[in-house]
Amino acid sequence: MLNLVLFGPPGAGKGTQSQKLVDKHHLVHISTGDIFREHIRNETDLGQQVSQLIADGELVPDSITIAMLEEEINKHPEARGFIFDGFPRTVAQAQALDTFLEGIGEEVTGVIALDVDEAELTERIAKRKLVSNRADDDSEKLKKRIQEYYGKTIHVLPYYEAQGKVERVNGIGEIEAIAQQLDAIVSGYAAV
Ligand code: AMP
Repeated sequence: MLNLVLFGPPGAGKGTQSQKLVDKHHLVHISTGDIFREHIRNETDLGQQVSQLIADGELVPDSITIAMLEEEINKHPEARGFIFDGFPRTVAQAQALDTFLEGIGEEVTGVIALDVDEAELTERIAKRKLVSNRADDDSEKLKKRIQEYYGKTIHVLPYYEAQGKVERVNGIGEIEAIAQQLDAIVSGYAAV
């Protein structure tokens, strides 16, 4: 299996790039943010539990997020692999993913970190807000999300660096050019 973590701050292009990789490499895309939003739209118990946190730009507690992720993986027993987008966002989540994958005889193949500076993120999300209809794309809420990223999520990188699994890609530039770089990395994994 090819299990890729696509890592980066809000607005780095994880969703856009995941879509391209999924189409080419036939992987299952798991975006925890998308799944949470789906629960909120469907007004499930989980949706009700997390909607305020998400609207405020805060992270959902690890226990809830990890349980949801594991359930999602289990829905795809035939998958050739997964792209994790927006997960893990804490070291505890990264550890839980390793433990879970180990339990099914798998592991994280690699982590691609999209580097985008804060000024560019803010600009991109201000544009996205015009079409996304996401309360958390609001500038105040975005500040909180960026704070969560630099406070909690950034520590996930050294965790995977210690395993020698991180590739960094400049996330600023033409979408297609970035997609080609990602594709080259993922094709390299697939060839191993
Ligand atoms: P995203 O669509 O990835 O930007 O996620 C939107 C929001 O969903 C985040 O700001 C968090 O509130 C929540 N969320 C998504 N993924 C996670 C995660 N792995 N851990 C905690 N909260 C998450």
